Amino acid sequence: MSPLEVLSGEKMIERWENTINKELDEYFAGKKRGKESVMSKRAIIYSLEWLSVGYFSALYMAGKKYAKHALAERIKGKLPDAHIFLVKFFSDMGFGKLVVVGAQNKRYVYRLEHCSTCWEMPPVGKPVCFFEAGLIAGILEAKLGKRVTVNETLCGGLGDNCDEFIARIDE
Ligand SMILES: [Zn+2]
Repeated sequence: MSPLEVLSGEKMIERWENTINKELDEYFAGKKRGKESVMSKRAIIYSLEWLSVGYFSALYMAGKKYAKHALAERIKGKLPDAHIFLVKFFSDMGFGKLVVVGAQNKRYVYRLEHCSTCWEMPPVGKPVCFFEAGLIAGILEAKLGKRVTVNETLCGGLGDNCDEFIARIDE
C-alpha cells in the first residue's frame, strides 16, 4: 500500500468535487434511483467545504445537538436500548451499517460499514465523518449524563474500507 497522501484543502475539494460530479452524472443519466438521500447528504458536506474554517467541528456539533435535542428523548431506556436504536437509525436513514464493537475502560468502539459520507470516496488524508461522530456523542451524553468525546480513527477519507469511532467517557 502506498503511504497515505495528505492533501491540501484545495486538492481535497477538487477530489470531492470529482466524486460529486460523477454521482450527478449518474443521477442525470437516471442510474441512481433510491440513492438521492445519500447524495444530498454528501452535497451538503461537500458544500460546507467551501465555508472552510471550523466546518468539521460545526458538523460534529450539529450531529451532537440533533441527537441530544431531537432524538434522545424519543429513545426509551438507557444505553443498551440507545445502542439498539442507533444501529437501526443509521440503517433506516441510509447512513450505513453501524456495529457496536464493544466497551472497554470507559470507551465504546463502533464500526460503520458502507458509510454514506465516505464510502468509496477517494482518500483525502483526513477523516470526514464528523456528523456521524457527533450523533454518537449526543446519544451517549444524553443517556449516560456524562461528557463524551467521539473520535473517528478509521475513515474512507483516510483510505480505510470502513469507519471506526471511539467514544471516550469523561468523568
Ligand atoms: Zn464515513
